[in-house]
Amino acid sequence: MSRFDTVVMLDWSGGNDRGPTPKADAIWGCVARGGVSDAPVYLRNRALAEAWIGDLLQAELDAGRRVLAGFDFPFGYPKGFARAVTGKDDPLQLWDWLETRIKDALSANNRFDLAAQLNGLFDGIGPFWGIGLKRDIDGLPRKGLARTGHGMPERRAAEEHAKGAFTLWQLSGAGSVGSQSLMGLPVLARLRRRFADQLAVWPFEPLNAPIALVEIWPTLSVGPAPEGWIKDAWQVHEVARQMSALSDDVMARLLDVPVSGEAVSEEGWIVGLGQETLLRVPAKPPVPPVLSNDCFALPAGIEWTPVDAALSLLEARLRPVTDVHTVPVPDALGLVLAQDVIARRANPPLPNTAVDGYGFAGGRAAGVHVLPLAAGRAAAGMAPDTPVPNGFALRVLTGAALPEGVDTVVLQEDVTVENGQIAFNGPIKAGANARKAGEDVNAGAVILPQGRKITASDLALLAATGVAQVNVRARLRVAVISTGDELVEVADTAAAGQIYDANRPMLLGLLAQMGHVPVDMGRVADDRAALARCLDTAAGQADVILTSGGASAGDEDHVSALLSEKGAMQMWRIAIKPGRPLALGLWQGAPVFGLPGNPVAALVCSLVFAGPAMGLLAGSGWRAPQGFEVPAGFAKSKKAGRREYLRARTRDGFVEVFASEGSGRISGLSWAEGLVELPDGAMQLRRGDLVRYIPFASFLS
Ligand code: AMP
Ligand code: MG
Repeated sequence: MSRFDTVVMLDWSGGNDRGPTPKADAIWGCVARGGVSDAPVYLRNRALAEAWIGDLLQAELDAGRRVLAGFDFPFGYPKGFARAVTGKDDPLQLWDWLETRIKDALSANNRFDLAAQLNGLFDGIGPFWGIGLKRDIDGLPRKGLARTGHGMPERRAAEEHAKGAFTLWQLSGAGSVGSQSLMGLPVLARLRRRFADQLAVWPFEPLNAPIALVEIWPTLSVGPAPEGWIKDAWQVHEVARQMSALSDDVMARLLDVPVSGEAVSEEGWIVGLGQETLLRVPAKPPVPPVLSNDCFALPAGIEWTPVDAALSLLEARLRPVTDVHTVPVPDALGLVLAQDVIARRANPPLPNTAVDGYGFAGGRAAGVHVLPLAAGRAAAGMAPDTPVPNGFALRVLTGAALPEGVDTVVLQEDVTVENGQIAFNGPIKAGANARKAGEDVNAGAVILPQGRKITASDLALLAATGVAQVNVRARLRVAVISTGDELVEVADTAAAGQIYDANRPMLLGLLAQMGHVPVDMGRVADDRAALARCLDTAAGQADVILTSGGASAGDEDHVSALLSEKGAMQMWRIAIKPGRPLALGLWQGAPVFGLPGNPVAALVCSLVFAGPAMGLLAGSGWRAPQGFEVPAGFAKSKKAGRREYLRARTRDGFVEVFASEGSGRISGLSWAEGLVELPDGAMQLRRGDLVRYIPFASFLS
């Protein structure tokens, strides 16, 4: 099945001509493509609606597009009706039969009279009932209970599954659908005739034509209308959006009717019935504007910016830059939520038992209790059965939904069973060993917040609460460039004066650990034109650029020079050790973090500044790393003016630091498992004093 380019949804109405101002209970149509709906269209009467949908289908065909057109009324009647009326089981012949007999004018139509005529084909009274007119009609009862002996099933198979759906026999009363089908099917019959070889009706015909007509029921997947919306307008808008956002796979699953049996081929089916979670594609939040050129501007006149001030500035200026898309929950691990997620279903959905045992109502005092056993048992997966009478007990197995009359369970180990009775010793508290519906999560509760990076446990929570798909952000793409004439690739031979590029593999690895997509841009010599070309390419491929080396103000510091030339750079002289100036700027809209060349400084600045900033750009919000107060296993005297980060690790309840503070000592980075953070002021640190230790892992989450 090829994909649908266009989705159009119609919310039909049994009434007619509602006047020019948009109203509830009129016909509403809505077109959507690629997960985005147009504004809903108000169609005040059926003649207008028929013309609108006909023109739309023609235009889509002319443009070579495939269309899924949905209507919110049943396409077929309960089994046996088509044959009783037309002599054939074919529902489409019934459409034609109705089409030749229904008279639909703006002022009046003959649906009640035709229903009476149809009732005449059956014994007894019915099956149609309900009259929306003052006058009585012979053969059409006003009340459903007045019907007898007509022999038709009350519902279609679909209505057995669709909780709260009306039956087709009811022709009047708020929400009833019977009149909608009587008045809608003739319209569909004419569309079939007009688009003869180009239209197929689901699930009666294979969908091998450019137009597919399907039955929908917005209640399955659409929540309440937001303030200011007319419910029907909201429903078509939402269903159209949801269906047009579905992947080909999911659409194919929805159109693969989930129940077998011939009833469906005659009665029809509702798209998504029994598969509601697949339909409930969440709406995407709006995409924010790009970063402004002055987002890295520093307040004038400051010589050395304290670390905290620098961090606050980044936090205030940056915002998410990544796209939002919908993914199935199993694919969401490690991705960042673009919006809050709401539980679709309570957990547990029904009260259930936490153990194997016997359930009854209420607690029992100390002493021996004997209860007669009710018939049957409750096991996991069974719908709760008939209520258990007061004073009776029911056999229950772990996970089983509890029927009415059971709220307390005694463990099977504590019970003797004999002659259809159980005996056990009290006391037992009311509610023991049973879980209440929603005691963990209520339907409608926010279960995960926007910005959350989805964990394996989150996947369990999402699945348990019926959330099949979520809106997440694309991973942040981060380009890494090393600069310097002295650098060679580790696989090559280093001549005298050359060193291996150590920063690039480190930074690429760090980005992967942070959950971003590392984009390797290779090395660039100290050559301004080459660097500019490399930054161009990087900005085209990534959301953020990390460079290392050349970030100071020296002759060969081309990163800072280039960004300055573009007028989009700020030299951030941050009061931090290790770390010389950090060059921050925008290159063609992409934030550039010009990191120092020294590997130790490059790592510390990446963890302390670039990390939280990239988290914000990636949509996961600003997250300060979590540190611990740990007794120092070392002594140190520190001058005022700069915040210091020492390579560190904990052993035996103390934090120890690497012997040398030299910022070229890469072995110390590898030795360390985290950093000790010493405050900006001066300090005389003695062994045993508490210091703040931040494990590397805490920077990466
Ligand atoms: P720069 O910031 O370019 O002045 O470099 C500062 C120091 O870091 C110099 O000793 C460089 O050789 C060294 N350095 C720069 N880039 C790298 C790199 N990618 N790998 C290892 N060392 C580097
Ligand atoms: Mg250099």
